Order: sequence, then C-alpha cells, then structure tokens
Amino acid sequence: MLRYLCCIIIGLCSVKKSFSKPPNFIVIFTDDQGFEDLGCFGSPKIKTPHLDQLAADGRKFTSFYSANSVCSPSRASLMTGCYPVRVSIPGVLFPRHDIGLNPDEITIADLLKTKSYATACIGKWHIGHKPKFLPTSQGFDSYYGIPYSNDMTIDPEAKLAENINLREGFTLDRIRNEKPKKNLVPLMRNEEVIEYPCDQTTLTKRYTEEAVKFIEENKKRPFFLYLPHTMPHIPLFASENFKGKSKRGPYGDTIEEIDWSVGEIMKALRKNNLDEKTLVVYTSDNGPWKLKGGRGGSANPLRGYKFQTYEGGMRVPCIMHWKGKIPPGSSCDEIAATIDLLPTIAGLSGVKLPNDRTIDGKNIWPLISGKEGAKTPHEIYFFYKGNSLESARQGKWKLRRSGKKSQSIELYDLASDISESNNLAQENEALTNEIIQKMNSFDEKLKNAQRPAGKL
Ligand code: MG
Repeated sequence: MLRYLCCIIIGLCSVKKSFSKPPNFIVIFTDDQGFEDLGCFGSPKIKTPHLDQLAADGRKFTSFYSANSVCSPSRASLMTGCYPVRVSIPGVLFPRHDIGLNPDEITIADLLKTKSYATACIGKWHIGHKPKFLPTSQGFDSYYGIPYSNDMTIDPEAKLAENINLREGFTLDRIRNEKPKKNLVPLMRNEEVIEYPCDQTTLTKRYTEEAVKFIEENKKRPFFLYLPHTMPHIPLFASENFKGKSKRGPYGDTIEEIDWSVGEIMKALRKNNLDEKTLVVYTSDNGPWKLKGGRGGSANPLRGYKFQTYEGGMRVPCIMHWKGKIPPGSSCDEIAATIDLLPTIAGLSGVKLPNDRTIDGKNIWPLISGKEGAKTPHEIYFFYKGNSLESARQGKWKLRRSGKKSQSIELYDLASDISESNNLAQENEALTNEIIQKMNSFDEKLKNAQRPAGKL
C-alpha cells in the first residue's frame, strides 16, 4: 500500500514537472539572406524543402524586420531587444576594434540563465570578439563559431588554444607577426581559437553537428540554442554535398545547405519528442548583399539591399514553428521584429523583464500564436542607419529621409506599393510631418538615454 501511494505521489510530481517545464528556444539566424531566398518566400531557383515544410507546419511572417541593415547592430538588437543605437552598437565591428556589446546588457541568454536554461551560441557572433564580449561572457554556457564576418581577418592578439589546428602552412609565429589576410578567420571554442584559418567549406555542416549534439545532451532540461549561421555572407562556401548543386550558383548552394541543416535540427527535435516543447525561429540578420552579375541574394519584390533602410535591407524572411501552439500553414503580415524576440521569450519562459532599463521590443506571442484579431504592438517602428534615424514604418506607411540634412523625403504606401516606387510625400504633407515629428522625438529621447558599449 505504502509503495502504491509512493508511486502515485511520484507520478503526480512528474506530471506537474512536465507541465511546469518551460519551453525550449532555437533561433536560427542567417547572414545576409534576402527576403525572396526561400522556396516558401518565392525563390524561383533555390530549393528549400525543409524550410518550406517548417512554414507548412508553422507560421510565416511577411512584415518581419531586422533592427539594422548590417551585421553587428542587427545582432546586438536581437540579443538585447533594443534598437542598436540604444546599446551603442550602431555599425559593423572589425577585428581592430576593442569594443563590444556591454556585458552589463541583459541578453536573451542572460535572462534564460535565471531559469537554469542550458544556453549555447553556435555560429557567427559579431558583437565583440575580445573575451570580455564573447558569448561566454553574455549568458551562454558555450560558444563554437567565428567571432565576426567570414571576410575579415584574425586579431593577432587572439587567444590560441594549445592544440590549435593550424592549416595552410600557418604557424603561431606567422599568426602573431604577419599582416592578417582577408577572408582567413579564426574558428573558436569558447574564448580560444581552435582552428586557423577556419575551413569554411565545412562550417555549416559542423555548426549543424554541434547543434544536434547540444539538443541531444540537453533534451531533459530547458535549452536555448542560438544558431547564427556564417552563410550566405560572402565569401560563399558549401560542403561537397552542396557545392555546385543549386540552380542559383554558390549563393544558392549555401542556402540549400542551411536548409539541410534546418532539416537535421527538426529531425533531432522530433526524435526526442521536443517539437511540441520548442519554439523554433528562422530569420536573417539583414537584407542581401548586392553583388555583380546577380551573384548575391534577392529581396524581390522589395526595393534595396543590405546597407539601406529601404525594405530590401531590413525586411527579412521569417518562419516560426512550435507544434501544437502555432497554427500550421498560417502567415502574419503584421509588423514584427527581431527586437521582439527577447520580450516574447521572456514571457514564454516566465522570466521577468528587467525594470531598470528600456527594452524597445514587445511580446508578440499573440501574433505568433495566431490569436484572432491580434495587431502589431508597434504603433511605429524605426530604422536606424548608423547613428541616424533614417526611416520609420507606421501601419502601411513607410517614411525615409536621406541625404545631407535629410533633405530628401520619401513616403510610400506599402499596402499598394511594396516596392517603394511611388513617392507620396508631397500629396500627404500632414502625415509626412507627423511621422517626421515622431521620429525626431523618439530619436532625441533614445539618445538621451543611450547606454554605453562595452570597453576593454
Ligand atoms: Mg549580415
């Protein structure tokens, strides 16, 4: 009898435990992937069966924005839920820079550590490569990947692992004393360089293996996997199985390998019955790089590219998946953004948002879960270029000001003109002035409350 009662009590406890366990989060973040460069977003040539399936089983976001049109600010924003200028990462960081995301900022990983999540960053970090700014100082238990863009160099002062894999005839002496070469970047584990130069042809494959291993090892506890791919940022590399296979050249090869990678991750989730316990987010850090001969990505039908605040530089493909929680095969055209992931993840995991600082993002779970009548929480959404607030979207309207002293003003109706081709600023003077005023007022407030970047 006693044994029977014990069994019931243990059983009840385990039921309670399984209900109270917070969900897992996987954020897959590609680099410079264009709005069109997925089968389910209209690519005529790139084949992405796994991502198409992810969308068929989940939800597409068609007005989803990165927080900047280049890498470092976009990533700083994703991690902190803030516009990049608020956390003082307005532009791209290079190996010569000794600043980074301030460790005093609270990242998604920091928040989830308060609930004992296992946290891993696998991929391109690019918000500070000095040890003080790396993922292991920003809430992640572990890090594997390249510390910045794959077209950069090594920092000769980087910490080298004792058993570093030196390739292409490099020696420790050459790393320390030669002028660093472009496109030769270090591969790191935690704070040490474990391979130089990194073999980029197998990078997507190795990230995937690391990701699957992390899922397997942490299947019994809540986890957060941040997987910022190195590709399709140039120079483009794919492994033997994908090289030369796509109808869209080397760029397409890299996306098709990332598609395979998503398939492997979903397979690992299903195998461990985790697909009903995991929110998977797939998106890109900014729009595509414009390369000669159409070799770069495509943001079609949007105007513009990476480096610009036209839609093509900022609106990115986005798919969210959570079996049983997100309506399959659905889509959402409400304004949503990478800065919304931190507050949304905080809400879903039961972590309180910090109350000692402003967070610009909003909890968009009503949009993700397809709640009837849910509207964007962003009355107006802002697009910074460097330190200057260049564009804003309010409902269907998009305003862009550019040139010296912002003398060129453009206003587009995105509902009827998604390609930003018909400037309606003159016909809508009152609205134009209203948006400009809101931009000026927001910008002034933000700059008065800017938080410093991390310094050595
Ligand atoms: Mg990028």
